Amino acid sequence: MVLQLYNTLTRRKERFEPIDPTNVRMYACGPTVYDFIHIGNGRMLVVFDLLFRVLRHTFGPEHVTYARNITDVDDKINARAAEEGVAIADVTERTTRQFHADAAGLLCLPPTVEPRATGHIDEMTAICELLVEKGHAYVAAGHVLFDVPSMPDYGRLSNRSVEEMEAGARVDVAPYKRSPMDFVLWKPSKPGEPSWASPCGIAEPGRPGWHIECSAMAGKHLGQVFDIHGGGIDLVFPHHENEIAQSRCAHGTAVMANVWMHNGFLEAEAGEKMSKSLGNFITVRELLDQAPGEAGRLALLSSHYRQPLPWTERLVFDSRRTLDLWYELAADADDDGEIAPEVLDALLDDLNTPRAIAAMHVLRAEAAKGSSDAKASLKASARLMGFLQSSLETWRAWRPAGVTIDETRVDALITARLEARKRKDFAESDRIRDELAAMGVQLKDGKNKETGEFETTWETKR
Ligand code: AMP
Ligand code: ZN
Repeated sequence: MVLQLYNTLTRRKERFEPIDPTNVRMYACGPTVYDFIHIGNGRMLVVFDLLFRVLRHTFGPEHVTYARNITDVDDKINARAAEEGVAIADVTERTTRQFHADAAGLLCLPPTVEPRATGHIDEMTAICELLVEKGHAYVAAGHVLFDVPSMPDYGRLSNRSVEEMEAGARVDVAPYKRSPMDFVLWKPSKPGEPSWASPCGIAEPGRPGWHIECSAMAGKHLGQVFDIHGGGIDLVFPHHENEIAQSRCAHGTAVMANVWMHNGFLEAEAGEKMSKSLGNFITVRELLDQAPGEAGRLALLSSHYRQPLPWTERLVFDSRRTLDLWYELAADADDDGEIAPEVLDALLDDLNTPRAIAAMHVLRAEAAKGSSDAKASLKASARLMGFLQSSLETWRAWRPAGVTIDETRVDALITARLEARKRKDFAESDRIRDELAAMGVQLKDGKNKETGEFETTWETKR
């Protein structure tokens, strides 16, 4: 089975053939760092993390480069800093830290490179210069604007007619635009807004538009043409369409990336996209406070990535129960089991996670009958998808945020356990150990260094 991916650009599922199998290159549009991310953003992270893992498995971990950017220049960030009365860098640094914790909480591997927009301003101004030189951009009123009619096949990714695009653009047409579809590459900054020396002979300082940030970062880290570009479905137009226009016209290439992949929306209620602006969101942080990260990850992968995913509490609950079973069965399994072909085939078929999870259920049933091969295979297959990343004890000891431990009760239970051990009632002493583990308390038995007497200490495990 070879890897097949659905390509938004061609509207077909295609066999994936990397430009260079020793360096497979993918880019995904990362977060704008002004606030906690929500679980819709989490879906995008988990989907492209799964793709990263499948590519690493297929081509070798050292042969895949994954670039996921941090957008740290954006008007939403400026607005948040002004609202809080703090420096812009305070907002972006804090939010980036929170984002890293949330991504790790959902068991996402760190990308190979994580470029920040503020570190790539020179690359952005260079693209502006190139585009003006080649007649694809012009300067007007302190802005650099992309000249959409200069690109004959603009709109191929989103497959929109010029009329449709013009109708969309007309809502807010600035007088300095030659065509209503033209979009901003660079704009002037007012005092107090972040600013850099402008390109193309513009005297006033300015800042980049959003789309050019990704063109500059992708080009710098992955080259003028690379393999896969991804993001949520809402980014197809205008963001990805405009990235393509900028990169292709600046470099004179036929494509920017060969494969364009887009995840569907996570829906708060049937048909309603979860988003910050609608206020119908759950943050990844809230999810991680209420359920183990792996349960959230499994819930996010329960639908095929291109389908909408209606979010329910039940989904997280069921995912957690499924993982309970996987964890128990894999606890004493070998570490060198084979990935089940049914699971791998499903993933290679355009990341068909519902089919992969169904195959895991079959494997789980075999493992439950005691087959050690099935157990080892269950473990290897789950790990490929980013599950079973901790021990059974740690998994069992997970507690929701805000749950505190009653220390008097812990001490009483430890004393009862020691008494049970003294009378050699090991069933009872094990039962008490399990009861404590369920409270998130892990015991350590040993000899007191000074007195030489047997003693039990404890710690909490999350
Ligand atoms: P944003 O910070 O809004 O630019 O979003 C970051 C990433 O999350 C982008 O790739 C979006 O397409 C994606 N995204 C935003 N909202 C959702 C949603 N409700 N469901 C799935 N993906 C989303
Ligand atoms: Zn982007």
